[in-house]
Amino acid sequence: MGKQKRTPRKHAIRNLPQMSTDTTPLKTGSLDGEDAVSEAKSRVVDMQRLEQAVREILAAVGEDPDREGLLETPRRVARMYAELFSGLHDDPRQYLKKVFTEKYDEVVLVRDISFNSMCEHHLLPFMGKAHIGYIPNGKVLGLSKLARVVESVSRRPQVQERMTEEIAHLLESELDAKGVAVVVEATHTCMTIRGVRKPGSLCVTSTMKGLFRTNQSSRTEIMQLINGDRR
Ligand SMILES: [Zn+2]
Repeated sequence: MGKQKRTPRKHAIRNLPQMSTDTTPLKTGSLDGEDAVSEAKSRVVDMQRLEQAVREILAAVGEDPDREGLLETPRRVARMYAELFSGLHDDPRQYLKKVFTEKYDEVVLVRDISFNSMCEHHLLPFMGKAHIGYIPNGKVLGLSKLARVVESVSRRPQVQERMTEEIAHLLESELDAKGVAVVVEATHTCMTIRGVRKPGSLCVTSTMKGLFRTNQSSRTEIMQLINGDRR
């Protein structure tokens, strides 16, 4: 995996969705090509190593890992990490294979798909909602599949900006959609419980592809649908 070129423009701390006009797509990180996927699949979670590492953390912060209350903690945390990072062993493209042929070519939007992910900089959770819209090109997806994609992409060490781009990229490439819009809003515990400690702050990222990028009225339509009567 090469160096990620990050674009902080997409990182907007505030309530209003920020429309992205950026034309350079982010690199898709761990989803870059078949190789990365099969490589991730072949890696299994080394539970013993995880447990040892948790013990090590406890000792390093000055705790006694052998104290009664902590005896089971390494195993519990190891299982938790295996669950939280299970997306590493899952190829989200599998959820986009089964499509229905429909002549419908208006906007399809699934709003408020909740997710929990782990910030890869602090290994602290960030959680929120993803809104995914697309304009089909003859291929329509089962609605629950979008939620599966979000699940798969979020259950790995992540960065919200990349997650947003990855979801959009997956839809664009697998569905051949005429337009894809992904808006993700999340609260980052690495901002609320540590560091600047700003509870209530919301990070909103968006990626627009195809018609949603090039056509102003399509873009306005999708943003109105996403925002609905909520704000
Ligand atoms: Zn963080």
